[in-house]
Amino acid sequence: MRRQILPGFIVAVFAASFFLASCGGKGTVATEAATDAAAAPVSAAQPQQAPTPAAPSPDKTGGFDGQRAFQHVADLVAIGPRTAGTDGNHRAQDYIVNQLKGMGCPADPEAFHTPTPIGDMEMRNIVVKIPGASPDILLFLTHYDTKRLPNFVGADDGGSSTGLMLEFARLLCPRKIALTTWIAFLDGEEAFNPTVWKDPDNTYGSRELAARMALSGDLSRTKAVILADMVGGRNLRLQKESDSTAWLKDMIWSTAVKLGYGDTFVSSSSGVTDDHDPFLARHVPAVDVIDLETPQRLGYWHMPQDTLDKLSPTSLAIVGHVLIAVLPQLEQKFARPGAAQHP
Ligand SMILES: [Zn+2]
Repeated sequence: MRRQILPGFIVAVFAASFFLASCGGKGTVATEAATDAAAAPVSAAQPQQAPTPAAPSPDKTGGFDGQRAFQHVADLVAIGPRTAGTDGNHRAQDYIVNQLKGMGCPADPEAFHTPTPIGDMEMRNIVVKIPGASPDILLFLTHYDTKRLPNFVGADDGGSSTGLMLEFARLLCPRKIALTTWIAFLDGEEAFNPTVWKDPDNTYGSRELAARMALSGDLSRTKAVILADMVGGRNLRLQKESDSTAWLKDMIWSTAVKLGYGDTFVSSSSGVTDDHDPFLARHVPAVDVIDLETPQRLGYWHMPQDTLDKLSPTSLAIVGHVLIAVLPQLEQKFARPGAAQHP
């Protein structure tokens, strides 16, 4: 993903290099990332940090187990780089599918072929489809691929949201849900070009999924798309993504504040181009729950320092708790008369 220029941005406040790096200039940051990644010894990615804090007990976070989500991230990071088309990416697919099967979640890997700057490639979205009383669809998204950079294992970028959605699937699959609920683990969010974020070299998986759903008719029944991306940081600070659908943002952020997470789900805005965009472009309500700014500020975004020690199981538990708490509100908003709802 990349940061967008926000209207009213006060350019003078920012140093020119930061400004370029943060808007449409993902390339500037990525150039630095690529250079530094190549030069930095691997040991530099493992600085001494305070031990990983334990997640709150799941009974305090709506049943969502931050520790389980964190373990999934650890397992994915242990695979190594998971760039689309690589062996690591395929091992990540196997991991996700096996975990989902173990939870009794129906998971369909959906393969597709796409041209990329490094040649034609097969990618796979893994889509969990949980039937509900209503055919209307809630769609949750994460990307599991990692940026094509040396020594980059994407604990936060690619790992955190995937661990989150695996734990979310564990809770949702056995549950009676009023709405049909899909959880899509997307391939190919990251650009192959290491320095430039230029369409169509990005969001391969989400564009494919949106196109398939449009063809099948599923998209016209999709009521809300909730994307999580980079949600595991120790200093997680989720700003409202500026292009995301207002009512959906308001529902999520107000729920978070009611649960006491106002320090994490903050009221300021930031624009990000990401996997929610293909759905917004097709006029489906969509939101991106993302913290791009903190990893940039801490210097680990698209760097080999995006490692497990940057994450907190508590951050995963907070976001998971909020998503669990938002579900009944979405069900209530879209349930058809006579359809069953969970209490
Ligand atoms: Zn990324």
